[in-house]
Amino acid sequence: MKLIYNTIKLKISCNKSDFKRLEQCNKESAHIWNLCVSKNNEYYQNNKKLLSIKEIRNIAKQEKTNIICAFNKQTIANKLIEAYKAISKARKAGRIDEKYPYKIKNYYPTEWNYNFLFPDYKNNLILLTTTRYIDEKDKKRNGKQIKLKFKTSIPQNIKTLKLIYENNCYYACISYLVEVEEKQVNTQNMASIDLGEIHSIVSVDNNNNQLIITGRKIRSIKQFRNKKLAELKSKMANCKKGSRQYKKYQKALNYIKNKTKQQIHYYLHKLTRLYTNWAIEKGISVVYIGDVTGIEQNTKENHIGNSNIRQKISQWNYGKIINLLQYKLNLEGIRVKLVNEQYSSQICPNCFNLNKPIKRNYNCNNCNSKFHRDIVGAWNILNFNYDNKLELPNNKIKYLRIS
Ligand SMILES: [Zn+2]
Repeated sequence: MKLIYNTIKLKISCNKSDFKRLEQCNKESAHIWNLCVSKNNEYYQNNKKLLSIKEIRNIAKQEKTNIICAFNKQTIANKLIEAYKAISKARKAGRIDEKYPYKIKNYYPTEWNYNFLFPDYKNNLILLTTTRYIDEKDKKRNGKQIKLKFKTSIPQNIKTLKLIYENNCYYACISYLVEVEEKQVNTQNMASIDLGEIHSIVSVDNNNNQLIITGRKIRSIKQFRNKKLAELKSKMANCKKGSRQYKKYQKALNYIKNKTKQQIHYYLHKLTRLYTNWAIEKGISVVYIGDVTGIEQNTKENHIGNSNIRQKISQWNYGKIINLLQYKLNLEGIRVKLVNEQYSSQICPNCFNLNKPIKRNYNCNNCNSKFHRDIVGAWNILNFNYDNKLELPNNKIKYLRIS
């Protein structure tokens, strides 16, 4: 048996005063975030460097709050530090248009960990710790806990609870540990995956099985979303900020965002489930996935000014797909390895010459071989990890789609 993390989103019901306090929590959290951001920016203006991790933590720690406790504040500081680190790394890698956090937030999801939340499994309740306060007699007192009620049972072994607000309701995003049976597929079969936009998952295995799962459905949701958001934004630009009409558009905008986010989430699960089933059927023991994290970077460099391409690629949830694949495949005892995929879509499987594919076909200028363009990337990834002994692709491709 082994332990894995799982997450669940549960709708919260609570009394009116606690509802108000939940809102206050996320407001206070936003205040801490904004304060750290503005102090950091101010420091940068004067000193041309960012505050140290310790200094950011101290700013969060020392700011007085009425509801959220020291732990909540530490978490926000840590999240901000993570964001700075990620962006700093990206900028050092040449992505200079990545910006450090600067936007003022109105709300920020507050997070409690298991030390600061108390589940009551019998009654489906969770009590959240709030900050200590000093009473009239100068004594330190524990703040009144916030009582969350749930309609369904709550999971055991809760690690963290994050408070989020969506469509007029509060939800608890609960991360918890579950025990699963430890499986391990023991075959010599291996596969590789190349992720793409139109053909979401392209995979080949060492028995010359080739699979393409198309993601047109997800793409069409994104196109719909982008179109609607652009329409609403241009309408909003033409009306007075804060007016009734403006708020109406704002509401519609949030609705579209949430709705499409949920749809995409659903289809990403379906997509990765389809692949997992294929891998089980073919008895795959290990899957190599081309690590595409470099893609956005390269695209930005190559197509500076071409915001359309940049938008397309950065909106493609490679990271999410990789996480879901890792999770689902691991549960089935299939190992996942992330590998460098540089040039894999350009190398000719037959003579290893580099060619830039044109349209949907891959034609080699050197040996005149013809291959399906998308298969080439996946084939090369597997071949690198198969001591260059992989049979040439046979162009017999199985197509699957999410519906
Ligand atoms: Zn060739």
